[in-house]
Amino acid sequence: MFTVSVTVPFVDFEPMHRPIQGEIETAIQSVVQRGDFVLGRTLAEFETAFAAACGVEYGVGVACGTDAIGLGLQACGIGPGDEVLLPANTFIATLIGVIHAGATPILVDCDPETALIDLEAAAIAITPKTRAIVPVHLYGQMVSPRQLLDLAGRHNLIILEDAAQAHLAEREGYRAGSIGTAAAFSFYPSKNLGAFGDGGMLVTKDPNIATKMRTLRNYGAPQKYLHTEKGTNSRLDSIQAGILHAKLPHLAQWNQQRYRAATQYDRALGPLNSKGIFPIQNHSGPGHVYHLYVIRITPAAPINRQTLQEELAKQGIQTGIHYPIPCHLQPGYQSLGYHNGDFPNSEALAQQILSLPMYPGLSENQIHQVVTAIKQILN
Ligand SMILES: *Cc1c(COP(=O)(O)O)cnc(C)c1O
Repeated sequence: MFTVSVTVPFVDFEPMHRPIQGEIETAIQSVVQRGDFVLGRTLAEFETAFAAACGVEYGVGVACGTDAIGLGLQACGIGPGDEVLLPANTFIATLIGVIHAGATPILVDCDPETALIDLEAAAIAITPKTRAIVPVHLYGQMVSPRQLLDLAGRHNLIILEDAAQAHLAEREGYRAGSIGTAAAFSFYPSKNLGAFGDGGMLVTKDPNIATKMRTLRNYGAPQKYLHTEKGTNSRLDSIQAGILHAKLPHLAQWNQQRYRAATQYDRALGPLNSKGIFPIQNHSGPGHVYHLYVIRITPAAPINRQTLQEELAKQGIQTGIHYPIPCHLQPGYQSLGYHNGDFPNSEALAQQILSLPMYPGLSENQIHQVVTAIKQILN
């Protein structure tokens, strides 16, 4: 078997980590010296710093983004009997979080141009049992805060943002994590702010929700051996918190590099619009933090998505699909009762989307290589 060497990787951590290797090593050493491996000063300091970066007061570190959603909803008082709105085209963790909270997930279709939850469709799905909405700031672009607040205000809904792909994103004067009651972040390694392992955080303006979240993540115990809630063990390790805190001051600059790369892609791919290939639309200007750069290969294009992906792979250009199967069609979730055809925009996107290489440090030359390869494959 012969293997193609990678010319443009999908993600490369080296350009981010190499220049700050000393800062990261110092952070790790300081945790080892203090010995506060779980729930100590290192975590508390990062929680305060990250919440402040989101424009809110409280942060509660947990084991992963999935738990930030699931425990976060519980901390907001959501549970069995409550309906929670969420998009059908998101990473499965959004759905898992809602189910873990014990609530009933109500899936909603997306806007075909932005891939974000369609808030008009969400309004139609509201029933007397609907208590919350989990908007997903997909690919690094926020769902419109003004429209979200308007919808939530009219129907008295709790907003828990899934901001796992949108660290420091902005739109309409709001920062991701500051729109609603609370917001969930993931620090999975490939996220815009990534740990050297798993991690997550709930951020909130509400001190009572923060307190309840601290209890839930720590065996339901507000103090040692007193269990006032049916909690769990889900904490952000001090070593991960230390690494994330060392990386945090660089995040804005890394996001800018992502935005610049996206602008280059947009410009270079512009001529392909006439061939039925379009980028997912950005309605938030430089507030988009481009966790992913996603294009749509529509049926009008001369080749399909699979062929394009395979031909790029032959040239060593790695791409991804986020996500190939919408939540409602996943085999493990058929008991929710959804069917093919329920969310046509999400289903069409799943067939058409392709994520191109995107990371801080992706060079102009590499972008040129990717776009040149696409143009040559189309001809
Ligand atoms: C990554 C991600 C999550 C879950 O985060 P984990 O830390 O992997 O549990 C949730 N929602 C979205 C949209 C994500 O991209």
